[in-house]
Amino acid sequence: MTQSLHPGPASPAIEFDAALIGKLSQLGPRYTSYPTADRFTESFGYRDYLQAVAAVRRVGGRHPLSLYVHIPFCQSLCYYCACNKIITRDRSKAETYLGYLKREIEMQGQLFAGANQIEQLHFGGGTPTYFSDAQMDELMRHLRRWFSFAPDAIGEYSIEIDPRTVDRERIHKLRRQGFNRLSMGVQDFDPDVQAAVNRIQPESMTLDAIAAAREAGFRSVSIDLIYGLPKQNVISMGTTLSKVIAADPDRISIYNYAHMPHLFKSQGLIDEAAMPSAQAKLDMLALCIRRLTRAGYVYIGMDHFAKPTDDLAIAQGQGRLHRNFQGYSTHADADLVSCGVSAISSVGTTYSQNVKTLSAYYNHLDKNDLPIARGIKLGMDDVLRRSIIQMLMCNFELSMPSLEQAYPITFASYFAAEMEKLRGFEQDGLLEIDDKWITVSPKGRLLIRNICMVFDRHLNERRAEPQAAPLRYSKTI
Ligand code: SF4
Repeated sequence: MTQSLHPGPASPAIEFDAALIGKLSQLGPRYTSYPTADRFTESFGYRDYLQAVAAVRRVGGRHPLSLYVHIPFCQSLCYYCACNKIITRDRSKAETYLGYLKREIEMQGQLFAGANQIEQLHFGGGTPTYFSDAQMDELMRHLRRWFSFAPDAIGEYSIEIDPRTVDRERIHKLRRQGFNRLSMGVQDFDPDVQAAVNRIQPESMTLDAIAAAREAGFRSVSIDLIYGLPKQNVISMGTTLSKVIAADPDRISIYNYAHMPHLFKSQGLIDEAAMPSAQAKLDMLALCIRRLTRAGYVYIGMDHFAKPTDDLAIAQGQGRLHRNFQGYSTHADADLVSCGVSAISSVGTTYSQNVKTLSAYYNHLDKNDLPIARGIKLGMDDVLRRSIIQMLMCNFELSMPSLEQAYPITFASYFAAEMEKLRGFEQDGLLEIDDKWITVSPKGRLLIRNICMVFDRHLNERRAEPQAAPLRYSKTI
């Protein structure tokens, strides 16, 4: 009997095929979760969350956690922003928020007492560095009181910084406070683009922040860029890319700007006449891919590039990459406990999201309730499809026999309709199917969201509804 050998997680190659992208680009989810957050309902509440925690605790064993902390405040408004944030210069708001955040952390800490080993921490926002040094010290002390943190060499402790809010000393302080990874928004180095989106961030400020992070011993420095902003073109993007490559960050994320002013009011402040055409956006994306891969970065997937020596690229090579609300991660299978307004947790087979306004957040905590607004409990079919989407997003391949071993299904019959759609993608050259594997091709990798959408039962059921509401997603590319 011959054994079918497979080379392991697919090698990190990517191919830009403009015709295929033009043919297949459509609105679709980013799959930071499955089911996606728009499927969460208010019938899921605090009690359901407690049951989920109890179920996780019953399973026992070593069970490291991931912790997310959301700090919603920002000093000024970037017009393109689609985050859940509050623009204010009133610092007392941060002090009040910190008090309530500590209460929520304490409640979560009590729930997980004795099973509270943290291996991954992420501070996002908003602008986490809106908190002062002293406030951050207080928060970190509080987190350490209620959770047990793995040593620095093992844990992945990251924070998003806005270079406009920190200096060299602050970055050193963040390292001493326990963070070992740092990501910063840049978007574009071009002053005209920065002016058009109301985010003036001189190049020297960003380069100083990167230098300080290196000096302070951060293990990984990541830069976020956006293509599709007003005043951007292939030439300006080329200049920004040269500067980014010279700055030598460990990871680079390049997001497609999704202009949806009907959903995000501030985007209405953008001059639409100055925005690049769809073709110019595609040209910019092609340029980004060409320049970054030539500079030695590995395409991780879904907008993310990393140096081959970075943990993300290594984890992908070893087939242990994971994807959650913060994007890609190296800590698979960790339950995610999230604190702060609008934050989303993923515990056991549930997702739950906190309330979105400060007043509702404070009201719940005043009543000693966790501030959960909505969520979802996954059934077996959801868990199975979530595994499939994870595998495709992280490894660009899927072993059908391994799923048949883990779940009570026969892949070909359970997913007969999906396989038929995938055959169409196979003809387009997006993937290959043999009797054991579905393998995404280099040109299919950019369209991975389209491939995952085939397995999204909720999306497909919604599309089949006669009065289906329009999808609130961005374009898949
Ligand atoms: S992009 Fe970042 S800094 Fe700008 S408004 Fe949004 S959350 Fe705040």
